[in-house]
Amino acid sequence: MTTSKGKPRVGIFGLTGCAGDQLQILNCEDHLLQLARSIDIVDWVMVKSENDHNCRLDIAFVEGVVATELDLEMLKTIRARTNFLVAIGTCAVWGGLPAMRNDIPSEVLEHEGREGDSSFLDAVEALPATHFVPFEFLLPGCPVERHEFIATVNSLLFGTVPELPAIPVCLECKTRENACRVIENHEVCCGAMTRGGCGARCPSHGVSCAGCRGPVEEPHYDANVTMFANRGISSLEISTRMRNFSAPAWLRIGLEGAKNHGH
Ligand code: SF4
Ligand code: SF4
Repeated sequence: MTTSKGKPRVGIFGLTGCAGDQLQILNCEDHLLQLARSIDIVDWVMVKSENDHNCRLDIAFVEGVVATELDLEMLKTIRARTNFLVAIGTCAVWGGLPAMRNDIPSEVLEHEGREGDSSFLDAVEALPATHFVPFEFLLPGCPVERHEFIATVNSLLFGTVPELPAIPVCLECKTRENACRVIENHEVCCGAMTRGGCGARCPSHGVSCAGCRGPVEEPHYDANVTMFANRGISSLEISTRMRNFSAPAWLRIGLEGAKNHGH
């Protein structure tokens, strides 16, 4: 599991997406030197001009969704050459924002395609990377939290797998003594359904949680939909807010809940 330099060989890759998770790794500033000392990044086209696209990788990080045939081919190639594959970011783990395109009628997509680059029409749906190949670890976030990325690398260097917080954003919000936006403002806030780890960043700045870290275990969509509906929030508002992120996971379960409440 080591190169001739005595360090694990690492690759960092982006499928369709905004490249925000790769930028977040670059933003690890204080930790970059330590990273460079402990791992050998052999394939990272966003950052390096000389890369080895064929060697075996001890660890690879992949962000983004599969939205084209090229994405799928690239993902399968990465999987085949990697021992420990990590999905980074909510797009790779759950589908995230790009998966919202799955709701756009094909005529609209085709029209947009004619106006410019139509390569994104290769695939019918934009789906998370985790839908296509097995991953050894999933690190959600939009983008990933820097401290969680560094903790993941450090755990892997010690031969262990990191643990993500199992608590919802609501718990972090409560410990910060924020006024609840559902109760006080009658807004849809996804904090109760969303995996914590961001320190309730949005509610702490006066904005409802949009669910960018994807669902916590046992998210209880129905109970949340009921809670929102009981506060007079329309089903359109509920479904619009609940499908912002993690579209495949949130949308199907959440909308069922909304339908069941007759809104
Ligand atoms: S504002 Fe949102 S995150 Fe905070 S307690 Fe209320 S529902 Fe939970
Ligand atoms: S509060 Fe919600 S939307 Fe905001 S960063 Fe945290 S998980 Fe993402």
